[in-house]
Order: sequence, then C-alpha cells, then structure tokens
Amino acid sequence: MDLMEYQAKELFAKHGVPVLPGETVDNAEAARGVAERIGKPVVVKAQVKTGGRGKAGGVKLADTPDEAVARAKDILGLDIKGHLVRKVLVTEASDIAAEYYVSFLLDRANRSYLAMASAEGGMDIEQLAVERPDALAKVPVDAVKGVDESKAREIVAAAKIPADVADEVTQILISLWKVFVEEEATLVEVNPLCRTPDGRIVALDGKVTLDGNAEFRHKDVFETYADVVADDDLEGRAKAKDLNYVKLDGQVGIIGNGAGLVMSTLDVVAYAGEAHGGVKPANFLDIGGGASAQVMADGLEIILSDPDVKSVFVNVFGGITSCDAVADGIVQALAMLGDKETKPLVVRLDGNNVDEGHRILSEANHPLVTVVDTMDGAADKAAELAWSSK
Ligand code: GDP
Ligand code: MN
Repeated sequence: MDLMEYQAKELFAKHGVPVLPGETVDNAEAARGVAERIGKPVVVKAQVKTGGRGKAGGVKLADTPDEAVARAKDILGLDIKGHLVRKVLVTEASDIAAEYYVSFLLDRANRSYLAMASAEGGMDIEQLAVERPDALAKVPVDAVKGVDESKAREIVAAAKIPADVADEVTQILISLWKVFVEEEATLVEVNPLCRTPDGRIVALDGKVTLDGNAEFRHKDVFETYADVVADDDLEGRAKAKDLNYVKLDGQVGIIGNGAGLVMSTLDVVAYAGEAHGGVKPANFLDIGGGASAQVMADGLEIILSDPDVKSVFVNVFGGITSCDAVADGIVQALAMLGDKETKPLVVRLDGNNVDEGHRILSEANHPLVTVVDTMDGAADKAAELAWSSK
C-alpha cells in the first residue's frame, strides 16, 4: 500500500526522522487555522499518490494565513497525473541550502535490500539516475545485518554528503531504516532531505510503500491509512468488491481465473494486438477459483465502465470450478447486467467439463458473445473486435 506524504511523515516522526509540523485539510478555508497555529510561512502541498507534484503546481509557498487559503484553493481540485487532489498538507516552510536524496528499497533482482542516496536530491530521481548516474550511490544492505552506524556511514560517504552534516545524516539513515523494518515497508524515500541554511537536516517530502503481505501484523496502520475509496475510480470500486483488478491503458478488457493465466492472457493479447492496430490489454483481473455469477458480473461491470474498453476477453480454465459452472456464471452475469452489456465478449473455456460449458453458451446464444476454442484464437478475435470498434 502506497502512503501519502503526510502519512509517510507521521511514520518518520514516530521513528525519529525529523520532519516539520503540519496538518492536512480538505477545504481551503481550514488552511487559515493551520497556518495561524504554525505561525510562520507555510508550504501548501497536494496529497496525491504520485510524484512530481512540485512541477505540476501542487506545491506552493504561502507567507500569510490568507495566502495559505488562496494557495489551498488553487491546489484542491487539481488533477495531477490523473489523481484528483482532495486533501492538502499545510506545513511549516523551510529555507533550503541543499537538497539530498535517500531511500531504502527491496531489490528484488538481487534478492536483497538496497540503499540509494545522493548529495544532489530535489529533482526527479529517475532523471538523476539517467543523466548523472555517478551522483546516485547504490549500496546493498544485508537483510540480516541491516543498517547500523557503519553501514549508514558507508552510504553517506558513497553519496558524497558533505562532511559537516555527515553525522546528522548518518543518524537519520539509521532512523529511516527503522521505519523500513519496523513498519515492514518495501520502499522508504526522502526527496528532498533538506539542509537548512543553519545546518539542520529535515525530511521535506516522504514516500513509503508498505508491504501488503504484512498487513496482518500492522492492522492499525493499514486501517488508519486505508483509502477513503473514491467511487469515480475504477481500482477503488474493484477493491471495494474484493476484485484483484489493475487498470492498464489498452482497449481489450480481460477476465481470467488464476494470476498466472491472466498474466499470460495479457501477453497473448498484447501480441495479437500487433496485427490489429496495436490494441493492448485494458486491465488485469483475476476472478480466482470460484468464478460465480456474482463475481463474473462484478468483474464485467467494472471492465465495461472503463470507457477505453472496446471488447472483453473472458479466458477461464475450469478446474475445481468446472466449465459448465463458469458458463452458467457468464450467462447469469449477462442477464444481471442487462443493457449495461454493450461490448463484444470473446469467451475461451477449457478444462473440466468444457463440452457442457460450450453447450450452455451456445444454447444461451447471446448476440454479443463469441466462443473461440484456443487462447491464441480468442486473443486474436478480441483484438480484432477492439480495433474494428475503435
Ligand atoms: P514532489 O514534487 O511531489 O516530489 O514534492 P516535494 O515535496 O518534493 O516538493 C517539490 C519541491 O518543492 C521540493 O524539491 C522543494 O524544492 C520545494 N519545497 C517543498 N517544500 C518546501 C519548503 O518548505 N520550502 C521551500 N523553499 N521549498 C520547498
Ligand atoms: Mn519530492
């Protein structure tokens, strides 16, 4: 689960990473009270789960409480890379003498943890990695030994952090590692880690991704920071229905059972799409083993409300739930959806009781449903239908 900046900073504060005081508000007028309580110039910052807010106009300085209200008005309601700003953080502003970058992350490729750090923070880290790779230190962290003082010093030296703040940054890295381990994160990142003109170091921004697999050990944190689901958001709606759905940017809606089958369905559709105007899969959706009519209807409903979707490929392998049950599920789901089902559906069934499944679908004879026997053939048909109705 990705956290917002203000949530990340709450976890930072809990483990001793220095942050500046602030509060979030969801209406502009409320920014006045926060700015008054802080009693100093503030920064008003969009709380959305994407980076680059500064460049998108989502981070603004305000010298007075009046200005804080005006800047909050500017920022609330902005669309930043597809994320609607519903909340802003009003936090004490800081003068900046230098901006550093530090992070810990799970390095899956090397089956290890990795520290990344740079004395040249502030800008996009992806850009820094490309333009000045030497300026971005990458230091492996042993999972068992973790980050003790000597490891932290190694990271600080590799990042070329100036000597006069090396001690302070070392302590901050040790605290940040505590956030990483004790909160069971897969990413903690500070950009910028700011050096003030009087030589103090504070985290001006924060990004934390918590490991969803560890949720059962951190119920309180996950509950506190769970998204207030926005019902205009496809992923939010899917989550509310307990669906394993990920939005992608193509045109062929995908429903399958089993993550492996769905992943290969995405590949096959992307490949088939090359012959049909470059159409691509529109989503990942694994409806799991059950594939009941209700789950099928929920899944179809989410996929069909994606305006980019032009056709849907239902790719199911009948195992414990046999193909006849899945076919029944599809027929009932279509009946439940009624007029909402307006896009062509390509169905490929295989596995347990496949003949009965086919019989049920052909008897139902739904005008929008095409049954294709092979996965490649069905992917090709779905891609063709998506392209021709674009
Ligand atoms: P991001 O663009 O989403 O990464 O948001 P950040 O929180 O990193 O803010 C973007 C930039 O705004 C930072 O790199 C700083 O240069 C600037 N900024 C953020 N907070 C402050 C502040 O308190 N004072 C000043 N002067 N600049 C700030
Ligand atoms: Mn940042």
